[in-house]
Amino acid sequence: MERRSKSGTAEADVVVQDGSGRTGDGSRRAGGTDRAASGAAAARGPRAKRGVPEGLWLKCDGCGATIYRKEAEEILNVCPQCGYHWYVSAAQRIGQLLDTGTFEEWDANLRPTDPLGFRDKKPYAERIVAEQKRTGLADAALTGTGMIRARRVACGVTDSSFIMGSMGSVVGERLTRLVERATESRLPLIIISASGGGARMHEGILSLMQMAKVSAALARYSKAGGLFISVLTNPTMGGVAASFASLGDLVFAEPRALIGFAGPRTIKATIRVELPKGFQTSEFLLEHGFVDRIVSRRDLKSEIARVIDYCGG
Ligand SMILES: [Zn+2]
Repeated sequence: MERRSKSGTAEADVVVQDGSGRTGDGSRRAGGTDRAASGAAAARGPRAKRGVPEGLWLKCDGCGATIYRKEAEEILNVCPQCGYHWYVSAAQRIGQLLDTGTFEEWDANLRPTDPLGFRDKKPYAERIVAEQKRTGLADAALTGTGMIRARRVACGVTDSSFIMGSMGSVVGERLTRLVERATESRLPLIIISASGGGARMHEGILSLMQMAKVSAALARYSKAGGLFISVLTNPTMGGVAASFASLGDLVFAEPRALIGFAGPRTIKATIRVELPKGFQTSEFLLEHGFVDRIVSRRDLKSEIARVIDYCGG
């Protein structure tokens, strides 16, 4: 049985394999956020660059203080001294945001393919397998439904550790189906973006079209009266920032996140002008009207629940 987003095209079929061995609409109950988080962590194995480094103590990238790891973990991987927000994986995000045991994953059976036979330092097909093994994710997004303080929501998260969180065909298709289900079921929609890259060059134009596809689904969701809260985290860049992440009825950002389209070095080299202080940070964007509110990770759950109530969701 196959379910495709309404806006999916023939091309999308080439890229998105819908493993039809599963029953129903392809949903899979993850059996609780804690299990989902620990399962992903177990599958991840040794982590190279991203995330909270191993060890009993951490050096904070924000203030340089030495922090007891457990203390930071207890407050959702935030520095107790300066409020610096460490990277958290998509599964950890789900665990932090949704009520325990309520997450039901949607479209877990979508798997990326390699329609262009692309290769950079290594073939894209091999890269996908390596990234899947390393992160425990099928691609750079997790989507599904769950409860936030007993309010049902549709929820999507991108993960910057999977090919920079770039929006390949699977990410675009999963997000589009998420939005469409939220529209049909009249659910509030939360998407948390952590994408250092927008388009995924390995999939060429098939990746680029995802921006328009997700945005079109969001336009229909908005027309139907839905409430979309977009949460920008470090980093939210490229085509993700240029499409769905900026289209929230409300746009929240975590403190001191890097948010923009092209990176500051590229812009500086192109326009040859000194960039303003704090350029492309959450705080700068709040000042200039691109972000509605800066919300600490520790307050995010309560804040979203409050907005849903306020908007009559
Ligand atoms: Zn700190």
